[in-house]
Amino acid sequence: MPVALLPPVTGGSYRSPGTVPLTSGPRYLRGPRNGMWHRPRAAVQYPERLVWTLWCGPAMFDQADQPVLRADETPDGQPVCGTCVGRALGAGQDEVPATLPALTFSPRWLAPPRCPGSRSWDLYERPAGPAHGSVGACLACGDLVALRAFRGWHGYVSAVEHVPGPGLLPGCPFRAWKHIHRRPSGRAGCVCGWHDEPPAGGNGHA
Ligand SMILES: [Zn+2]
Ligand SMILES: [Zn+2]
Ligand SMILES: [Zn+2]
Ligand SMILES: [Zn+2]
Repeated sequence: MPVALLPPVTGGSYRSPGTVPLTSGPRYLRGPRNGMWHRPRAAVQYPERLVWTLWCGPAMFDQADQPVLRADETPDGQPVCGTCVGRALGAGQDEVPATLPALTFSPRWLAPPRCPGSRSWDLYERPAGPAHGSVGACLACGDLVALRAFRGWHGYVSAVEHVPGPGLLPGCPFRAWKHIHRRPSGRAGCVCGWHDEPPAGGNGHA
């Protein structure tokens, strides 16, 4: 049974041909490479793809070559985003179900969905040795990522947008991953200097 969706608020306009906000959709969505189900708050059909907005924040692109999975009930035991379910039910998007799915709010989800090294002009290093062309090591997560020249008024080379690799640096207790830059040490760290301090009594980071 479809669930009512809210107006998208951002994105789309009645002036753009072929662009329509959806008024109803499935209860749960899961991205093609996502381990968790989420709940849609709104959706806009653009000519080339459908863009879902999730209750927990991010947008999910739904296109022919990478379709989003849809479900009214999630398969048994599969994790469901607790933020999405809490907000959707709190907002009265539909009836509170008799049984709730396996709600998850995992530390993994606490990590930023995109690496702070994404699109940063100083958070990568080209590997030593023969020219690797357009590949660099991300200083924030350690992964090898593609580099691209972004034009615009900056005109700089930076790492492409990517999900954080397993070596993602810990978030600053104050600013999380919001202001990660290349520090004077040459390593990635928060602009406040938290990552630069030697690990000493109390704050517990290495
Ligand atoms: Zn969610
Ligand atoms: Zn990275
Ligand atoms: Zn900053
Ligand atoms: Zn900080």
